[in-house]
Amino acid sequence: MSAIKSTMMPTPLSLNRLLEHAGRLFPQSEIVSRLPDKSLRRHSYGDWYGRTRALASALKKLGLRKGDRVATLCWNHHAHLECYFGIPAAGGVMHTLNLRLAPDDIGWIAHHAKDRFLVIDDILLPLYEKFAAHHRFERLIVFPFSGAAVSVRAGEPHEGEPAIDDYEQLLAQAPADFDYAEHDEDDPVAMCYTSGTTGRPKGVVYSHRSTVLHSLIAALPDYVALSSRDTVLPVTPMFHANSWGIPYAASMVGAKLVFPGPHLHPDDLLDLMQLEPPTAALGVPTIWLALIQAFEANPGRWKLPTGLRTMVGGAAVPESLIRKFAKHGVSVDQGWGMTETSPLASLFFEKPELVGKLSEDQWFARKALAGVPVPLVETRIMGDDGLCEWNGRDVGELQVRGPFITGSYHDEAPSPSNFTDDGWLRTGDVAAIDEHGYIRIADRTKDLIKSGGEWISSVDLENAIMAHPAVAEAAVIAVAHPKWTERPLACVVRKPGASIDAGELRDFLSGRFASWQLPDAIEFIDEIPRTSTGKFWKVKLRQRYADWRWPE
Ligand code: ADP
Repeated sequence: MSAIKSTMMPTPLSLNRLLEHAGRLFPQSEIVSRLPDKSLRRHSYGDWYGRTRALASALKKLGLRKGDRVATLCWNHHAHLECYFGIPAAGGVMHTLNLRLAPDDIGWIAHHAKDRFLVIDDILLPLYEKFAAHHRFERLIVFPFSGAAVSVRAGEPHEGEPAIDDYEQLLAQAPADFDYAEHDEDDPVAMCYTSGTTGRPKGVVYSHRSTVLHSLIAALPDYVALSSRDTVLPVTPMFHANSWGIPYAASMVGAKLVFPGPHLHPDDLLDLMQLEPPTAALGVPTIWLALIQAFEANPGRWKLPTGLRTMVGGAAVPESLIRKFAKHGVSVDQGWGMTETSPLASLFFEKPELVGKLSEDQWFARKALAGVPVPLVETRIMGDDGLCEWNGRDVGELQVRGPFITGSYHDEAPSPSNFTDDGWLRTGDVAAIDEHGYIRIADRTKDLIKSGGEWISSVDLENAIMAHPAVAEAAVIAVAHPKWTERPLACVVRKPGASIDAGELRDFLSGRFASWQLPDAIEFIDEIPRTSTGKFWKVKLRQRYADWRWPE
């Protein structure tokens, strides 16, 4: 047999191609950004394309070298999108800093990543001052988000202080002749640190190849289903796993983008939805829990956009939330992913073999699962006794691998607690997969409640508690117990004006769980602490109840 070779061009996958495609084919698509004063600023894709290339050109002129890290400390807006494409176009690596972290942690992360420049919203300069001592950036590029003039110090910076540039001036003065930095498809484009919910933050570095493949897959009809006819509202911060990669995928297809800026209060989001109705939106469950409560508490004040589809993930999505939005014609599609997985690794869609076969209750129960793996991502469940069947019952650690799953952490020796010997990422999530391929996340390993040799899923309990009409939010934690090792304690926030006591709540749950699975203590609290990415922060709750004494 004679050997045969592929005749295809070995063109490397490149983020620059997505930018060129969007700029050339969709110059009239729109990008709308909400400014600090709540007014809206509009750009066309044509403007964005020109400004992004100008940013890249300006960065090169400032001496950015290939592989240099340029950090961003920004809300969601057009200039942040310019950084998404412009920094890699110049050969740099965009490093999104999470503005909700404690200042010391932001400084630690910037230092660990060796960030050279920082693009920062002017309104976040006070935050910068709080971590400036931890890391010296060479240069601050201040985006005049609030419209106020940036005070740029004349001449050379003082000893030990960064130079300061005005973002808009840099773009205006950028050399017009610009060539993309050369690159291989495996060269880095962006990095993001895990938010450290369960440990020290770890750096994940995305490549041209991983980002392009992730964008193509996210946009597929069964997953986020993005098209040039869409209006996409990314509520997920652009520093949270690159807003789940959606700004890349949405601009690739020429969709209109609506960025909420710093205004994430439910009233503000609902107001924005009236002005610029989205067809697709994304955010963590706590955003949508707050939004639907505000919506239902103010009948007639707002309309939810007809046919809106929301992609919700990052934490378990209560079935009750999915049902509430469905009543208003809004679809809530649950996805699962991690910073390490670019992040979209699974998302709900109704597989053809199930269409027309599910009762309403079965359909909602299925929507409360974490969806079906996306193409190119392999998933497996590793139990104590080896690989688990996909039967929906056998539970073990969810492990994944694929071309947009991280194979290591930045500047960290690989550890068997993160990666298996045969090259899979250990997610630390406990899950089962059913015969149709739907993933059910039972818990994070660290959040499971170990009671008398049995496991109790905190996620199942939370979802059931949040289905009670008087409950706004609930988080269940394990508390050490002298006899049973651990027992569940439920922290519950009542809806404003609602009354419910522990006995009523226990009665409500008793039909759904075996009695040994029910929480032994139910504490009513004012609010559940949130992590920097808006998830329930169980570490804080565990600290609060560390000295809890069970009755003898
Ligand atoms: P952090 O680990 O700091 O929260 P990530 O945003 O990367 O940062 O979070 C990834 C984790 O979020 C997953 O390992 C999983 O525990 C949780 N998660 C994501 N999506 C879901 C989901 N649909 N259901 C339950 N947990 C989820």
